[in-house]
Amino acid sequence: MKTAVNTVRVLFLALFLFLLRSGKMNLWLILFGVSLLLALFFGRVFCGYVCPMHTLMIPTEWLARKFNWQTKKKPDWLSSGVVAWVGLILSVAVMIYAKRVLKRDIPILLFWIALAVLVTLRYRPEVFHNLLCPFGVLQRVFGRPARFSQMVTPEGCIGCTKCVQVCPAEAVRMKVDNKALITPGACLQCTSCTQVCPTKTIKYQSIHVKPAERVNA
Ligand code: SF4
Ligand code: SF4
Repeated sequence: MKTAVNTVRVLFLALFLFLLRSGKMNLWLILFGVSLLLALFFGRVFCGYVCPMHTLMIPTEWLARKFNWQTKKKPDWLSSGVVAWVGLILSVAVMIYAKRVLKRDIPILLFWIALAVLVTLRYRPEVFHNLLCPFGVLQRVFGRPARFSQMVTPEGCIGCTKCVQVCPAEAVRMKVDNKALITPGACLQCTSCTQVCPTKTIKYQSIHVKPAERVNA
């Protein structure tokens, strides 16, 4: 599964670079818009499979962990999550200004990709995914009511916490009964947890969590 998922990511990264090089980033924005609608039903599949930031953060994190550059601490000033919304508003404003006034496109995504890589060299990936990414905040809102997501079937969970340890978005937590629970709005659908679960009890399936448990996204 890991190879197939990584292949899909690399193919989308190649598509992104092709569109960037040929000046057709409008098509990428359309793809992102469609992904928001799909997130209403199928969760944040864009984040897990398509986003170039996530794809590049994976080898970046591997490198950062190998050389022990990362800290588990999170910057306090980011904790409210407001910065991501400010980033979204500024990004849209810059794109509109460039298009209308400067009569040119500014590849704002390149700035965010560079920031994602730099931040991941120092901090765990959830810092960028949950507190900084301006596109992630939109995906989170649209993914919250998703009908399908990676979910844990509690009967099969032995409470090993491996899923919690590998999740790049803090989307899975242990409940008081020592069973894992995935929050759909926070889940990137990246399958990292399914790959390490020893009992294979995490599957992409119809969601059956209570509405109150979705709010925690
Ligand atoms: S990895 Fe699987 S068995 Fe372990 S806590 Fe997560 S869901 Fe439960
Ligand atoms: S819960 Fe699993 S699929 Fe969702 S973001 Fe975390 S590791 Fe990825």
